[in-house]
Amino acid sequence: MTKPTVWFLTGSQHLYGDEVLAQVAANSQAIARTLADAGLAASVTWQPVLTSKDAIRRTMLEANADDSVIGVIAWMHTFSPAKMWIAGLDALQKPLLHLHTQANVELPWATIDMDFMNLNQAAHGDREFAAIETRLGVARSTVVGHAAEPRVQAEVDVWMRAAAGWQAVQRLNLVRFGDNMRNVAVTEGDKVEAEHVFGVSVNTYGVNDLVDAVAAVGDAEAVTLAAEYEELYDVTPELRRGGERHDSLLYSAKLELALRRFLEAHDAQAFTTNFEDLGGLVQLPGMSVQRLTLDGYGFGAEGDWKTAVLVRAAKVMGAGLPGGATLMEDYTYHLVPGHERILGAHMLEVCPSLTSSVPRVEIHPLGIGNRADPVRFVFDADPGPAIVVALTDLRDRFRLTGNSVTLVAPDEPMPKLPVGRAVWIPDPDFHTSAACWLTAGAAHHTVMSTAAGAAHFQAFAAMAGTEFALITAGTTRDGFEKELRWNSAYYRLARGL
Ligand code: MN
Repeated sequence: MTKPTVWFLTGSQHLYGDEVLAQVAANSQAIARTLADAGLAASVTWQPVLTSKDAIRRTMLEANADDSVIGVIAWMHTFSPAKMWIAGLDALQKPLLHLHTQANVELPWATIDMDFMNLNQAAHGDREFAAIETRLGVARSTVVGHAAEPRVQAEVDVWMRAAAGWQAVQRLNLVRFGDNMRNVAVTEGDKVEAEHVFGVSVNTYGVNDLVDAVAAVGDAEAVTLAAEYEELYDVTPELRRGGERHDSLLYSAKLELALRRFLEAHDAQAFTTNFEDLGGLVQLPGMSVQRLTLDGYGFGAEGDWKTAVLVRAAKVMGAGLPGGATLMEDYTYHLVPGHERILGAHMLEVCPSLTSSVPRVEIHPLGIGNRADPVRFVFDADPGPAIVVALTDLRDRFRLTGNSVTLVAPDEPMPKLPVGRAVWIPDPDFHTSAACWLTAGAAHHTVMSTAAGAAHFQAFAAMAGTEFALITAGTTRDGFEKELRWNSAYYRLARGL
């Protein structure tokens, strides 16, 4: 992915004269450079200081029109009468970060005079700006502090990553091979509303289109890719070249190449499969899906396009950070009192970005799908903090539900469970987490992310104007249920008629 760009906008006015405006420009360039040099997720491009309604409106329209721009940062170096900003803020269609900062760190106690006060008055200029943002109902992130502070830079980076994820979802084409698993409720959803709210275009293709794509892959290409697998991964001997089941690995390689080409041909960055609709596929896609998700594609199983959207968003938001993101499924529990654990996995498709170890490549029977034994990666997710997030269609709107969790090592090896596995303890505790999750109507399919975290999803949800109900360390059942009820009223009112 090419590094995205954010614009750095500075507000001022003509009251102070050219000399002061030149100083405002120099100071704001320095602040923009501090952020640009901080190695954040997006490049920072300084824009000329804004002092009029027309210039502000035009700048916002240009930001909208420039596909390389994922959002704008705004800072009022001096007072900038905010009625000038109304037309521009109304026009802005990209994420906004209000950076509440100032040029100087220390007050020059001994020399401070009214000239200094007039030049460095973000303390009240940003309050004027925020008043109009709030009056207009402008969704934004607010970051407070000097731009050189690591904490401030980290918060700006979170917003940049969320904006990059938001842009990726806005432009996302999602390919579904077949429909949802029959009779399942939670994987359904309003695809028209999803395109309106998130921008994602969700479309279904016949699985035999994929079968044709597999047939079009040359034998030699599959041999080359299978050899790459043997170099990169811990491939079980029966699948290696010369092994008795090497043909199964070759078929899995063809499946990967076919999926990759199909998605590229359709400019798609996310996809779903359905084990009930495999057409002429010889194996249920396993390792092929896992390899594509390692490269940043979104994926949902059983036709679950909503989770595929979240996996893609998490991949983009977490790009370059340690850890990864994957389709996850709450599967079964360890219910020993005081030692409760959730075991998550899927039949095949969990992404190995959750492990820093070299995954094993194995082949085992799978009753589901009624096809030949599928090739898959086998691994345990690394211990550490993670988040799970689900997207629910509540009929009249969408809800994101999140839970901060801690991944832990399995108590014992699970030699008869040859899939990608994760064991975790949810915040604030198992009973509260599960009760809140069920109350929210959140799905058993989630994105599990160890790279992008709760703050990224929080900012992403704000950009989408979508509820994000987060179950975390301080959550209580009573408080969470109230929050859901209040949110139900809020989001109904906020949408208008
Ligand atoms: Mn599933």
